[in-house]
Amino acid sequence: MSVYDSLDSITEELRKCMKCGNCMAVCPIYKETRQEVGVARGKISLVEFLLAGQIEMTEGMAERFSLCTTCMACNTSCPCEVRFDKIILAARAESVRKKGLHAVKKIAFTALKMQRVFDFGMKAGSIFQGVALKHIPNKHSRMARMRVDIGIGTEKVFPMLAGKALRSEFPEVIKVKKPKMRVAFFTGCMINYFYTDIGRAVVEVLAEHDIEVVIPKDQGCCGIPASINGDVVSARILAKRNLRAFEKVGADALVVACSSCGTAWKHVFGELLENDPEFKTLADKWAAKSYDISEFLIYQVPFKKEGLGRVARKVTYHDPCHLNRGQGINQEPREILKSIPGVELIEMKDPGRCCGMAGSFSLVHQNLSIQISDHKTADIAQTHTDTVATGCPACRLQLQSGVENAGFDEEVLHTIQILAESYRVGKEELKRSR
Ligand code: SF4
Ligand code: SF4
Repeated sequence: MSVYDSLDSITEELRKCMKCGNCMAVCPIYKETRQEVGVARGKISLVEFLLAGQIEMTEGMAERFSLCTTCMACNTSCPCEVRFDKIILAARAESVRKKGLHAVKKIAFTALKMQRVFDFGMKAGSIFQGVALKHIPNKHSRMARMRVDIGIGTEKVFPMLAGKALRSEFPEVIKVKKPKMRVAFFTGCMINYFYTDIGRAVVEVLAEHDIEVVIPKDQGCCGIPASINGDVVSARILAKRNLRAFEKVGADALVVACSSCGTAWKHVFGELLENDPEFKTLADKWAAKSYDISEFLIYQVPFKKEGLGRVARKVTYHDPCHLNRGQGINQEPREILKSIPGVELIEMKDPGRCCGMAGSFSLVHQNLSIQISDHKTADIAQTHTDTVATGCPACRLQLQSGVENAGFDEEVLHTIQILAESYRVGKEELKRSR
């Protein structure tokens, strides 16, 4: 039985917890709130009371279950190997079954399921975003703040919507002369609508390796925002849509440049669809050939060292939770960065500490999200670098917001953008030497 279908499915996980409190030392929520309900142990107790019928699911309870960034730090520090990530998903799904979904989330996830309407909304948003957002002069990125507080504060810095979505910039199949393989690129929403520069870098680096890239037009949101908020119905619809879209185009491998999208393809689709034999088979098939772009370039290609030009950057790397703890990918991006001539990699203190973004968490619990982010910004400041690299567009947003508010002149990039830059410089150096 899946964690998405019944609270009973996590009984064994709950039994493993010996209430030692080790998770308190690593939980970003507990570190800020010092409240038992913030930490895994407290939420585990709530679920146990629910299952025992001692308490009922209420809206207040749902609010308590929302107090988690799903960073999985408690998973890795737990001596009893409690999979708290499963427990929180089951608790949130139960909360939606019993109390329904918050109205704003309901509207958002409904829109995500209507891809054409969503695309149109994003296009219109890119034209009229100046009404709600005030542009911030920043030499590195097009960023903005809300003009008025509509419940999400005005401190947060957002990337501006791209004038043209990534999937409209490219043909569905990007041909190369002698293709070595065909790779399908799952862009995810943030890269498609906001950080198109990351998407272009992915395409550029893959083309550099004679790889034909296909960007299925029918793909949509990975569904992680829905599944993580307990909207299992929407998550299943989105998972099936994406599986159909990729099956239709076919490819030797699938790459992502977003840690949540990677988790969706590798783990979540299969778990969501385990009771649907047809789609479970498809989910397993695509999970086996899904790669984060950094692991793809290390293990599947591997990426070319010749042709890399000098990029003079002092870089520190932030580990996205869902890439690091969720997929075990942390050395691969560092290996790429260390290979780039001119890049000096300087580690920050605790690079795997959650940045506090966690999707809708940063909007619902904005003050808490900013408090968590402030620690990350302080750790970045201590490195005296000029660039922060990361492997997730959502972390990029949060890190940008943190350094902008702290007044640092620090550029925040995805690792793949620095690699693409190096190949570009390499080509210019070659031209000049001829
Ligand atoms: S979840 Fe793990 S670390 Fe936390 S109280 Fe339970 S056993 Fe201890
Ligand atoms: S997943 Fe992270 S935020 Fe959630 S309880 Fe565990 S350590 Fe705390």
